Amino acid sequence: MTAPILLCCDLDRTLIPNGPQPCSAAALPRFRRVAARPEVTLAYVTGRSRAMVENAIRRWELPLPAIAAADVGSAIFDVGPEAAWTPWADWEERIGRDWHGHGAPDIAAALAEIDGLSPQAEDRQTPLKVSFTAPPETDADILLAEVATRLRDLNVAAATVWSIDETVPVGLLDVLPASATKRGAVDFIRQRLGFPAERTLFAGDSGNDLPVLAGPCRAVLVANAADSVRREARRLAMDGSLYLAKGGFLGMNGAYAAGILEGLDHFFPETRAWIAPE
Ligand SMILES: [Mg+2]
Repeated sequence: MTAPILLCCDLDRTLIPNGPQPCSAAALPRFRRVAARPEVTLAYVTGRSRAMVENAIRRWELPLPAIAAADVGSAIFDVGPEAAWTPWADWEERIGRDWHGHGAPDIAAALAEIDGLSPQAEDRQTPLKVSFTAPPETDADILLAEVATRLRDLNVAAATVWSIDETVPVGLLDVLPASATKRGAVDFIRQRLGFPAERTLFAGDSGNDLPVLAGPCRAVLVANAADSVRREARRLAMDGSLYLAKGGFLGMNGAYAAGILEGLDHFFPETRAWIAPE
């Protein structure tokens, strides 16, 4: 058996083909085949809540992952067939310290007055994630500077993640403990499971994936990513660790799961025979 691979996938518009671009018919069946390999440990790393991850698994017939980092990395679960969504208490303990005794309601109150910010629905909030919407045309630099000032005044170490859901469109702002980003979650998962960065592949498509795409792990940006994300990813990427899917791999278009498979083949050529044994 070749060395194991930790495959970390964003869900919406990365593994799940729920963007405007078409999805190659062979992509998801091939992805399911790769995910079933004993060499592959599959993790989902997503803005979705646990319940929304479970919905997606059913609706899109996604493979059951070994691990899921939900709510933009602010919760990590063992999933597997037997684990039944057991949360990683050591992760919650680690990230919870960043807020220096403050809770989500304190943070929501501190940011409530900022122009344009509206709290997301109650079921999108967790004890370790405070989420807002904003108009898509918001100047993110100005907004994030204002948010940073107020969080500094409150004395919390927080990460802010801004992204645009192009399908609505709407701006999304998540405030998390500083170490609770997707990047922090991926690093924690791979260190706890013993995967070096060069045997870890992260696949993503949007703004809240950028810190991981720019980090030490191998990473692939799927071909359906927005041009702005593609430009920024190129600028942030460490040498050679980021691959931009372009399509043409095994007749697929490089979008969604096809892009993930293209990235797998790029960094781990031994996976080609698993993707397409025919
Ligand atoms: Mg996404």
